[in-house]
Order: sequence, then C-alpha cells, then structure tokens
Amino acid sequence: MAAFICVTCGVQFAPVERHPDAPPARCPICEDDRQYVGYNGQRWTTTEDLLAGGRRNVLAEIEPGLSTINTVPSLAIGQQAHLIRTPVGNLLWESISLCDPETVEAIRERGGIAAIAISHPHFYSAMVEWSHAFGGAPIWLHRSNREWVMRPDPTIRYWDGETAEPLPGSGLTLLRVGGHFPGATALLWPAGADGRGVLFSGDMPQVAADRRWVSFLYSYPNMIPVSAAEVERIADTLAGYRFDRLYGSWTNRVVATDAAAAVARSAARYIEHVRGD
Ligand SMILES: [Zn+2]
Ligand SMILES: [Zn+2]
Repeated sequence: MAAFICVTCGVQFAPVERHPDAPPARCPICEDDRQYVGYNGQRWTTTEDLLAGGRRNVLAEIEPGLSTINTVPSLAIGQQAHLIRTPVGNLLWESISLCDPETVEAIRERGGIAAIAISHPHFYSAMVEWSHAFGGAPIWLHRSNREWVMRPDPTIRYWDGETAEPLPGSGLTLLRVGGHFPGATALLWPAGADGRGVLFSGDMPQVAADRRWVSFLYSYPNMIPVSAAEVERIADTLAGYRFDRLYGSWTNRVVATDAAAAVARSAARYIEHVRGD
C-alpha cells in the first residue's frame, strides 16, 4: 500500500487499496486557485522515495520551549512545523511531508506530541502519519476546511466556531482567522517570547520579506488579494489578543518583536492600497 505525496504541495493522500501502485489522478489542493500544478505537471512521491533520495529533517530550538522542524533539502512549498513545549505536553503546530523514524525518536526525547493543530490545507502534508507515530495524537482542524482533507482519519478532530483549546491547561488557543481559507487558523501561545506572547499565523497573515510587516492574500502563489473589509475584520480579530512575536510557517519568517502593532499597521497599509486611497 502506498500513501502518495503530491510533490508540489506536499499533501499525503490516503493509501490506495485497489491499485496500490497507481497514484491519484489529480491533486485538488494544487488545482485550486490558492496553489498550482508544478511546471512539469502533476507528480507524486512517497516517504520511502524521499528517504531514498537523501531527504532528512532538522530540529532546531529557536527560543526556550520552541523548536522548528524542517526537511532538507526543502520539499514541496517548504513547509515548516513548530514543536511547542507546555506543562501539559507538546503541541505540533503545522505538519511536514516527511515523517521518518529518526525525527520521531528525536521528538520522543523531547517529550513526544500530545496534540497536533494545523492552520490550513497547505500544511496538512503527512499529518496522519505524525499522529499515528505518537499514539494517535488528535489533529485539530477547523471544520470548514474539511473538504480539503485528502487522507481522512479517526484522529482528526474537527472544531467549530471562533476559538478552541487543543491542550487544556496549556494556555494555547486556536483562533479562526479566515481570509485565505474560511477556516484558516492561527495559534496563540501566551507563554512564548519570555511571556510577552507569540502568535503562530500560518498564512493569515503571512510574514512579508520585510519582517516588520505582514500581508493578507487569498492566494499567495497566484497573487489574489482579499478584500479591504476582510482585512479589517482579520485585524480586528487579532487586536483582541496579546502577542509580541509572530511566527509564520516558513523558515526565518518572523516578526521578532512588536508584532501586534506590525499586524495593525500592515492592515492599514493594505487597506489603503486596495481601496486606492
Ligand atoms: Zn498538490
Ligand atoms: Zn496557504
């Protein structure tokens, strides 16, 4: 049985029973406006092929209680996961496509994974493999993104509404932000940044190349904006929370300090541009 992984977006599909060696015909996530089919057409890989090709993961602690997990050489859209340590267990924020025994062991040494939460479908990757490697840790996904789950599994816990607590007692809170996907989710970690608070934003908002700023797009690769009204709503939502640092889900995409103000001024600048003020 092969669980095929889309080379362009990194999402792993359910293992195929009838025709174990025939990959899916297409990837709905890549065919959507918010992604793209690769230059060489739809291509597939598997965990085994990735390992045989020399891919591996690197863990790095970037602040107390917080580590990044990256695949090298980079894979798909370069997804990065964060492992957050809390007094009641670790949370894996986002997921990457390569789940290998070496990384699983390295995470076990750091206390394992008690829960997984993911911002939106571009980070679903091999989430089910990560869950299974850690005793079926629940995967928290916003219900409105359900149609984009390519590998359904009983460990997926769909949540509704505007907020959720994936690890009660940890202080971690999931916030529905929307904009990029209806259920696009951010994660608030109040203990992060030495207690000044951290927001993990996924793609909404996304940290800009100038890391004093963020932006708000419906499609990043195809450069499709969201409306001024929607950006205003997102900025209002995030203004209700305290955070000093904001991590995106790609390497080095971080607003290191004064991030709440960066979100507010970025929203104001964006609205000015799209309205043509
Ligand atoms: Zn894809
Ligand atoms: Zn995205």
